Amino acid sequence: MGSVDFIPVNEPLLDGNEKKYLCECIDSGWISSEGPFVKKFETEMSGTVGRRYGIAVTNGTAALEVAVRALGITQGDEVIMPTFTIISCAMAVTKAGATPVLVDCDAYTWNMDVDEVEKKITPKTKAIMVVHIYGLPVQMEPILKLAEKYSLKVIEDAAQMHGQTYRSKPCGSFGDISAFSFYPNKHVTTGEGGMVVTDDAELAERCCLLRNLCFRKDKRYVHDEISGNYRFTNLQAAVGLAQLERLDWFIERKRTMGRYYTEALKDVRGLRLPVEKTDDADNIYWVYGVVLEQDIPISNREMVERLARLGIGCRTFFWCMHEQPVYVRDGYFHGEKYANAEYLARKGFYIPSGIALTQRQMETVVEKLKQAINEI
Ligand SMILES: *Cc1c(COP(=O)(O)O)cnc(C)c1O
Repeated sequence: MGSVDFIPVNEPLLDGNEKKYLCECIDSGWISSEGPFVKKFETEMSGTVGRRYGIAVTNGTAALEVAVRALGITQGDEVIMPTFTIISCAMAVTKAGATPVLVDCDAYTWNMDVDEVEKKITPKTKAIMVVHIYGLPVQMEPILKLAEKYSLKVIEDAAQMHGQTYRSKPCGSFGDISAFSFYPNKHVTTGEGGMVVTDDAELAERCCLLRNLCFRKDKRYVHDEISGNYRFTNLQAAVGLAQLERLDWFIERKRTMGRYYTEALKDVRGLRLPVEKTDDADNIYWVYGVVLEQDIPISNREMVERLARLGIGCRTFFWCMHEQPVYVRDGYFHGEKYANAEYLARKGFYIPSGIALTQRQMETVVEKLKQAINEI
């Protein structure tokens, strides 16, 4: 939580039944992945998006890895995804031996440009990985149409989208398989945690195997495949269940916070604010992101440093996949350029947006942000 005056970029709210359920774990001795809260959390979480199966795993990154592996994506396959995302998406694909194929994003919604996807489809394309970014959903209809036309799988990264919908249908319910994260800055947190959700019984079974070392079903300690230990604990599930009880309120609160920031910042020069709504959804402001306009001659990094000196914790936007040193070194994405994503990566940052943020703190954030802009 830092010093008294510093306003952190994120602070979760844990004052519901979290403590009560955690004490039940301790009192009953159930703290491992075998505890009864895990199943309950899987059922309730998958229920929030109307999916039949939920498989809880150690974190959102693991959820993506398990999802990619469960679909049988492997050496020689290609998976189309946005360049503007977290590396967990690309890593899930490269760790499976497959190749990420990138598309740019929209300059205003920050989501993948669905019009670029079809051009990137080749005979090797196996799946499209959609990633809903920062509060608005990806345009799913064109993606699902392409998937149908070319017989592609759809993996939905809904890590930032608990409680969001696309045309009234929950994010996390689209495509073959979806992944959630429960990191503390997500709308539902378990400290660390993630979940794969799907309607496909076979995929769900694959996910369960992959989560737990790929033990052979008929012979424990005998293995046909390499995987990992991605098990989720009863302690995590206890916190998650308490968080889920308040999801609707969390989303309402996030929207109120987002609207406040927009109203307070709309006349500040040089700042591009998040899109409030599209035809498909109202923003849930997973984080409240802003983008410096061209006439503000500093980078997001420098702005974040300046705001830190004023006591405001901010964070820069994602760094593009095609500019990741590790992928450039390994020969991926040679010479590729994605102008919108590159701009966001250099000029975008988000301001304190955690659910525990108070009105007074938001007023201070606005005041200091205006001050920082005026000092340029
Ligand atoms: C947070 C996040 C992840 C990774 O989740 P972890 O739980 O931190 O591993 C993956 N994708 C997106 C879009 C995220 O925001």
